[in-house]
Amino acid sequence: MSLAADKAKEILVHLGQKVAESGLVIGTWGNLSCRVARDNVVVITPSGLDYRRMTTRDMVIIGMDGRVAEGERKPSTELALHLAVYRSRPDVQCVIHTHSPYAGAMAVNRMPIPAILEDAVAMIGGPVPVTQYAFSGSQRLAELAAAALGRVNAVLLANHGVVGVGRTPDEAFQVCQQVERAAQVYILARAIGTPVALTDEETAVLLEHYTKEYGQRERGEG
Ligand SMILES: [Zn+2]
Repeated sequence: MSLAADKAKEILVHLGQKVAESGLVIGTWGNLSCRVARDNVVVITPSGLDYRRMTTRDMVIIGMDGRVAEGERKPSTELALHLAVYRSRPDVQCVIHTHSPYAGAMAVNRMPIPAILEDAVAMIGGPVPVTQYAFSGSQRLAELAAAALGRVNAVLLANHGVVGVGRTPDEAFQVCQQVERAAQVYILARAIGTPVALTDEETAVLLEHYTKEYGQRERGEG
């Protein structure tokens, strides 16, 4: 996927509304961005603005060096985190940071989410790791998150929230939804018994199957 900056701004406006409606964030919390590979920039949501009031004019364009290239508003306070993820993951085109409650409970306990549900594992790529604690907005948190993310598509930030990434905005959004659902199911499963996670081998087979299916579906949809 190669986006133009104007298109990325529109996508972020709609995605912001979807994320707010989904309950994955409350008020002005959380933040989202898209990479514009052709210009080597990132378009990110502004700091402290309600998603329902956001327009394309509020979006901020940032160079990969972290400098504002265009935009009147202050970029999201988690800008460093978004940039660190794009630098370490060339495949990622969209980053969404949420504060969803069940994933938040796992992040507070500093517990990774095991590979327990097929569809979540297929989207995320394996268990969801959790970072060590660092203050929100700090460079340290950005580095910890990018390192913990590795090759999977989601990471829990200790005592804070979730980062979900994808090759498309829709994929990143689905990842955030799957993280929340997996956390909810894991907590419920723990309440009534002992959850059994998929083995590494089962996870590998599942991912291979998913990659094949997803590739075919993508080609089929042109
Ligand atoms: Zn946050």
